[in-house]
Amino acid sequence: MTRIPTVVIGAGHAGLSVSGMLTGRNIEHVVLERGEVANTWRKERWDSLRLLTPNWQTRLPGFEYGGHDPDGFMTMPEVIEFIDHYASVVDAPIETHTEVRRVLHDGERYRVVANGSAWEADSVVLASGGFNLAKQPPVASDMPSHVESVSALDYKRPGQLRDGGVLVVGASATGIQVAQEIHRSGRQVTLAVGEHVRLPRTYRGRDIQWWLDQIGRLDERYDEVDDIVRARHVASPQLVGTPDRSTLDLNALTAQGIVLVGRLSAINDGTAYFSGSLRNVISLADLKQIRLLDDIDEWATQRGLDAEVGAPHRFPDTAVEADPALSLDLSSGAIQTVLWATGYRPDYSWLDIPVLDRRGEIKHDGGVVTDSPGLYRIGLNFLRRRKSSFIHGAEDDAIDITDHLAGYLHTRDRVPTQRRTG
Ligand SMILES: Cc1cc2nc3c(=O)[nH]c(=O)nc-3n(C[C@H](O)[C@H](O)[C@H](O)COP(=O)(O)OP(=O)(O)OC[C@H]3O[C@@H](n4cnc5c(N)ncnc54)[C@H](O)[C@@H]3O)c2cc1C
Repeated sequence: MTRIPTVVIGAGHAGLSVSGMLTGRNIEHVVLERGEVANTWRKERWDSLRLLTPNWQTRLPGFEYGGHDPDGFMTMPEVIEFIDHYASVVDAPIETHTEVRRVLHDGERYRVVANGSAWEADSVVLASGGFNLAKQPPVASDMPSHVESVSALDYKRPGQLRDGGVLVVGASATGIQVAQEIHRSGRQVTLAVGEHVRLPRTYRGRDIQWWLDQIGRLDERYDEVDDIVRARHVASPQLVGTPDRSTLDLNALTAQGIVLVGRLSAINDGTAYFSGSLRNVISLADLKQIRLLDDIDEWATQRGLDAEVGAPHRFPDTAVEADPALSLDLSSGAIQTVLWATGYRPDYSWLDIPVLDRRGEIKHDGGVVTDSPGLYRIGLNFLRRRKSSFIHGAEDDAIDITDHLAGYLHTRDRVPTQRRTG
């Protein structure tokens, strides 16, 4: 058992950001990573994925994109290289291929048990990712066995799917992107659409992320919004990063031949049933997009920017068929695969400390796990700010969390300068 002030679990960009800050404060620590640096980008994303955040926005503490295409969108190999490079810049003390199997508190300190090593620590930062497991609705268990089920975490490319039609369930960033890719591979795609966030790629000549950044939307704090529980569960926006900077919304998908249906609500005797609320959820998303554009226009006018950017305009409403299908026969063979793009959730199966709520989510106050002093979380949706789960969101959160952690160690007066083994 090795004694150390702090263990960080996970060498994604969030864990590395915390590591850099801890080093800056001379707090001895180790970063335990079950795979390689940037493991999730290496193993758990589909091949063609590009970031939906532009290169200029892809920044980590003291480190930003230095290439020739600030308005472009990184491919997966580029993201891996970016995070790898950052790990060497901050000289993070990483132990790779070290999977944490158990974290507990013995009343005095944390014990972190990994394959091949065990650690005793005053504080632990859980930077293990917010998207470890694919969420599936309960209805998934009623899917007939002859239809192949594929989760977004297992999806890599269309070629891995059977020939034949595909039902994609979920129309947020993942769902719309994979629906388009699968459709382009020659398969008929039906997309089940629930509540979603519609966003244009560009507005008035600027990237939508530029506007969101400028108007301060991404910096909104967790203790300032009316309903933080709801805000933390808002789906990712319908957005894609492509070299042509095109908007990928439901209108674009239907124009390409993808069929929209409502939210998948039930499967009975081999028939899938869809909610009749498609028109309503689409109207709501259109309305929310208009409200956002109104806010942007107001902000631009107040700042005297109207002459510098393009003219305000509105996008066409999302077109919906007069009678979208309410059911789909899954026994006919027309649908060979269902792809669940219904979200992700963190894995805490190794966390042996009673800090989870009834939904299995960690209870925290902006990343500070108040029920277990010395325990911290980073890298969750809206952890401290709306941008928290994005790459550029790590900096501010890592500063705040490391501040708190340093204060905690100080009050415990347990900041040994040398690692002790025994
Ligand atoms: C499909 C998709 C697209 C996204 N696109 C964007 C985007 O365009 N722009 C953007 O800014 N963000 C994007 N994100 C969000 C976000 O940046 C990523 O999810 C990011 O990977 C989160 O960083 P992280 O460091 O918190 O976690 P991760 O990158 O998931 O890192 C966690 C690390 O912990 C390790 N780990 C987990 N459990 C253990 C254990 N028990 N023991 C040891 N190690 C463990 C994992 O191997 C992993 O390396 C996207 C997310 C997804 C899912």
